[in-house]
Amino acid sequence: AKADGRGVARFFDPSMQDAADRRAAFEAAMRDGLSLGQFRLFCQPQFDCHGNLTGGEVLVRWQRGAELLGPDHFIGFAEESGLILPLGEHVLKESCRALARWDGDAMLGHLKLAVNVSVHQMRDPEFPERVARILDVTGAPPGRLYLELTESVFAEDMQEITRRMFELRARGICFALDDFGTGYSSLAYLQRFPLSALKIDRSFVRNLGIDPGSASIVEAIIALARKFELEIVAEGVELEAQRSFLTHGGCSSLQGFLLGRPVPMAEFEHAYSAAGVG
Ligand code: C2E
Ligand code: CA
Ligand code: CA
Ligand code: CA
Repeated sequence: AKADGRGVARFFDPSMQDAADRRAAFEAAMRDGLSLGQFRLFCQPQFDCHGNLTGGEVLVRWQRGAELLGPDHFIGFAEESGLILPLGEHVLKESCRALARWDGDAMLGHLKLAVNVSVHQMRDPEFPERVARILDVTGAPPGRLYLELTESVFAEDMQEITRRMFELRARGICFALDDFGTGYSSLAYLQRFPLSALKIDRSFVRNLGIDPGSASIVEAIIALARKFELEIVAEGVELEAQRSFLTHGGCSSLQGFLLGRPVPMAEFEHAYSAAGVG
């Protein structure tokens, strides 16, 4: 394995030839990590077109000793093994704790927090109840919680997924459709789902100014989102030219390394709070 696999490979004892042994060891390590609190929340800021902070996206990291693993190393495995359910619950709970902490703060009190939700979580009939319980326990304001779903939910039992989404929407929670345009997009679902926002995938943003096709796609997505009265969040903004294009094009929010990298939640709170929460 190259750079991407290195972090994961280090957990494996070379004597464990068997793929099943390796998987079992990785699963055990993840379980330990969950009980030891090694899964940490990072937060990447989002800004409106005037440059005002509007909120952030929660991105999970696995802190294993000195090593910090990004989600690409473990989310796929967590989904295959079912560990995404306890991991997702942890992320949601910690995110709601943050929202509750921010409540009333002059700077942080109006921010939205976007949390990635796996299709496996949406498949769980108990999911809406779980979220409701977390909101109750933490006292987080539901109206500031955004759940990000990817288009992979379109492959699911649509009736069930839609019902769960409406149940959560009725509690005030918002939904954003993540990585829009990369999966099995179906325009019918834009109408059918109770969505509040579309996130333009990084791959289109990256090629702005390079490939005229991407500019057309971005313009089309923005026009579509307008028709459906959805907010449009562009992710992966790295260059001034991209920011300028997206701002003038009518994006509601921007997210990317140009504006701010994901940082540990405490650092995010420190950087953006007026009163110094946390
Ligand atoms: P995503 O939801 O599309 O998240 C955005 C990813 O783009 C993040 O990667 C973020 O660090 C990265 N990014 C943001 N701005 C820029 C930029 O300007 N340039 C570039 N090159 N990259 C940028 P990260 O943190 O590695 O997360 C990867 C994916 O892992 C996420 O993609 C999301 O699908 C998944 N993920 C992260 N946290 C969670 C979680 O708590 N639960 C679930 N189910 N999935 C998660
Ligand atoms: Ca996301
Ligand atoms: Ca995304
Ligand atoms: Ca993505």
